[in-house]
Amino acid sequence: MENTQKQIILTGDRPTGRLHLGHYVGSLKRRVELQNSGLYDEINILIADDQALTDNVDDPQKIRSNIVNVILDYLSVGLDPEKVTFCVQSALPALHSLTFYYMNLVTTARLSRNPTVKAEIQMRGFADEGLPAGFFSYPVSQAADITAFDANIVPVGEDQLPMIEQTREIVEKFNRIYGETLVLPKAVIPDNEMQRRLPGVDGKAKMSKSLGNCIYLSDTPKTVKTQVNGKMFTDPTHLRIEDPGHTEGNVVFTYLDALCCDDHFAEYLPQYANLDEMKEHYRKGGLGDGVCKKFLIQVLEETLTPIRTERQKWEKDIDTVYDILMAGTLKAQERTNKTLARVQKAMKINYFEDRSVIKEWKKLLTNK
Ligand code: ATP
Ligand code: MG
Repeated sequence: MENTQKQIILTGDRPTGRLHLGHYVGSLKRRVELQNSGLYDEINILIADDQALTDNVDDPQKIRSNIVNVILDYLSVGLDPEKVTFCVQSALPALHSLTFYYMNLVTTARLSRNPTVKAEIQMRGFADEGLPAGFFSYPVSQAADITAFDANIVPVGEDQLPMIEQTREIVEKFNRIYGETLVLPKAVIPDNEMQRRLPGVDGKAKMSKSLGNCIYLSDTPKTVKTQVNGKMFTDPTHLRIEDPGHTEGNVVFTYLDALCCDDHFAEYLPQYANLDEMKEHYRKGGLGDGVCKKFLIQVLEETLTPIRTERQKWEKDIDTVYDILMAGTLKAQERTNKTLARVQKAMKINYFEDRSVIKEWKKLLTNK
């Protein structure tokens, strides 16, 4: 198959809000590294507005408004339109067709077992209100997104692993029935455990737009400070500075695990060489929560300040941002239409590609 040797990335986000620190550590940071590695033939980033509508059916304006937020966040973290194709899902009709075909390759029982979707159904109250069929089956549409670009690499956070597994099953089944047509993808998740699923500022569930427990990439320094000082609980048993403290399950340390490096210590907290030394002191007693939070805010600002500055630049040039998104989407249209044609041919539903079916039909009728 023509594309099997190529290294192609597909990844994306739902335009349900501005992007947050969980996106950054779980996915965006890795995307920028992959982009700059020069090892990939294609990097495609999809703004999944159709998928966002599966649980926001009554609020289309929210999705429309957040398209600009998501593309601005992409550009602000350093994703480069010269190297990346940014595109919008709803403008790629091939994805809808593929989803429709793949639906037949998946059972409802299999979809019901998806642990991420199960948790999201609970979280959104769909268990009581009734579950939209579109939301229930969105992992199938993700399989369409990934395969439409012939992607073999999908950099995502940990919550997406069941989706990639589902995609792999669809690909294997499709290729078994219709012949080798689709590329088998592989998920790439961060090595650092804390980055795979960053918790919200409350330290409980994963940081998620839908849960309102986020530090957004575009938050002001004042908001970041309020979130850290006001919302982050440390160790409840660490009452006095000299008491021994716990670092496990302590959200301040979870964030430091995900974000800080030895250079941050050299610059802001030189009494420790690294996070291990700082943790040891906290566990022994004698290190106050105020110092830990102050350091975390410095680390956060080190990450967020350049992103904010870039965002401000792009915000002044929305016409260009629009053009970038449209050019990428048109390119992706062509790309995904080609895959659809290949799929339809494999499925023998390519009647109008050329007139060759006439010969087949005539033969069939003469042999009757
Ligand atoms: P929503 O609440 O609308 O589902 P979300 O915050 O979960 O939004 P998505 O757009 O669903 O964000 O996720 C986009 C990408 O970011 C996925 O690859 C996902 O794995 C990753 N991601 C999202 N939240 C986190 C997190 N807290 N930690 C690590 N990765 C994350
Ligand atoms: Mg999500």
